Formats: sequence, structure tokens, C-alpha cells
Amino acid sequence: MSLLKKAVFFSIVMVTLGACGTGENSGASEGPGEKLSVVATTGQVRDVAEHIGGDQADVQAMMGPGVDPHLYEPTQQDVVSLAEADLNLYNGLNLEGNMGEVFENVENETPSYAVTENIPEDMLISGGEDYPHDPHVWFDPDRWAYAVEAVKDAFIEVDEANREEYEKRAQQYLNNLEELDAYAQENIRKIPEESRVIVTAHDAFSYFGDAYGMEVEGLQGISTDAEFGVGDVNNIVDLMVERSIGALFVESSVSEQAVNSVVEGAKERGQQVEIGGELYSDAMGEAGTEEGTYEGMFRHNIDTMASSLQ
Ligand SMILES: [Zn+2]
Repeated sequence: MSLLKKAVFFSIVMVTLGACGTGENSGASEGPGEKLSVVATTGQVRDVAEHIGGDQADVQAMMGPGVDPHLYEPTQQDVVSLAEADLNLYNGLNLEGNMGEVFENVENETPSYAVTENIPEDMLISGGEDYPHDPHVWFDPDRWAYAVEAVKDAFIEVDEANREEYEKRAQQYLNNLEELDAYAQENIRKIPEESRVIVTAHDAFSYFGDAYGMEVEGLQGISTDAEFGVGDVNNIVDLMVERSIGALFVESSVSEQAVNSVVEGAKERGQQVEIGGELYSDAMGEAGTEEGTYEGMFRHNIDTMASSLQ
């Protein structure tokens, strides 16, 4: 965000807070029966926060279905919500590329935590130039378990009185992650070894690939703000023709254009490539649907890969 825009945002926050005569937005001031107001950036973070916060929390996600976190620009209302909340939770590792400064500034008003901050360095994959570490950690349940712990700790930090509840619910979430991991292992094994390749628009699946022995090829690199070039398309076409890979995937938060160029390119070289379906990468599905939950979107991805890559 430019300095000017930043200045405008924060003067708005200050005016709003001043006008409400608040400042009493810390968790400690919650009366009995009052819910903590929690803002999460992505759907994946919201899902963890909702489960762990349970009845004690009212959780809002800033980014809905189909929204790309790499490019997301916070609105004025977002900045106000962050400043007024009792707790803010974000992915971190630069996933929310335009929001780093917003969180730094809002930290004085509201405790704000990057849920990935405790993942050991040696479990992180390099993300190239713009991303010292690939931020898409939610696709490996083992790594995402660190985010669950971080969310639990954050809730306890702002609401010590309900520690036991948060600990109990975090443990349930960790148990669910283990089941999900077993489901993934079992179904990926059904894909013939030579076909265990995920070709997508952007590199969101490196942790997934690492966890389940899948090769990962993205057209756009880690962020969606990098333009794909003819060279990238040709490289992927080469790979698909050489390896006889019959399917690639579109993502709910990324334009289909790059993927369609590969289908066309392969066709020109006599290789039939199908679009194997839509994978959820950075955004989840509609609220109220299976795919609107972390577990649902994860299972959808596994099922889509297992049925297309045969
Ligand atoms: Zn991404």
C-alpha cells in the first residue's frame, strides 16, 4: 500500500474510533456472555477460528469464495473492522501481500497473529523471489496443525478464562486433521505413480505435493500477480506431452486463461488434455456448502485429483 493510502486508511480508523468514543475493544473488557469479535482473512483461517472459538466467538472472514488473497486490497471498512475486533488472525508468510502494513498498524488496537508464525523454518518451502517461504501451508495437515495451535494460543491470550474450552476444541480439530490426512494418503495411492502430477494455474500445491508425493507444476509461480508467458505455457505443454499427462486443473480463485492456453497448445501437438476439474486453492467454496469448509474443500481436491488422474 502506498504511504498516502496508508495515511488515509489510518486517519479513517482513528476518526471512527474517536467518534465511537471506544478504545474499549480489548478481550479483557468482554462481559459474561459477550462473544469475542474475531476477524480472519482467508476462509481457511476462518474455519480454524470458528471451530476453536465455538460459542465464545463471532468470526468474520474478510475474503469470501473466489477471492484471491495475493491481490486483495483491504477496504476502508476492513481496516475499521480490524481495529475494532478483539482478535485478528491472518495467514502470514506474505500470503496477504497488500495487508502487511495494515496488520502492523492495527496491532496497537487489536491483538493480531499470523497463524503460520510457529511453523519451524525447516518445514517451510522456499517460494522464490517475492516469497521467502511459500505461504500455502494449509494443504499439508501436518503443517496446518501448527496454525491450529497458534489460533488456540491466540484465543487463550485474549480470553484466558475459557482456556479449557479452546484447548478441547483445538484437540478435536487436530484429530480431524489426522483423519483428513489418512483419507488423502489412501486416495492418492489409487492414482498410478506416473500420473501423480498436479498441473495448475499457480503454484499453490507445493506443500500438498510434498506431503503426498505428488509432482507440482504451476504456470504462474507462487503469486497470481505474476503474468504467465508463452515460455511457461510451452514448458508445461512439453511436460504434459512427454509424460502423457491427460489432465490439468483450474482453480476457483484464478482465471482459466492460462490453463486453456495449455489445453490448446497440447492439442496442436496431438495430445488430448482435459481440464480435470476445479481445485480449491487459496479460496474456499460458498458458505453453507461442503466446500465452504476446510475439510470439505480438502476432500473435494483429493476426490477431483483421484478421479481425473487415472
Ligand atoms: Zn496462492
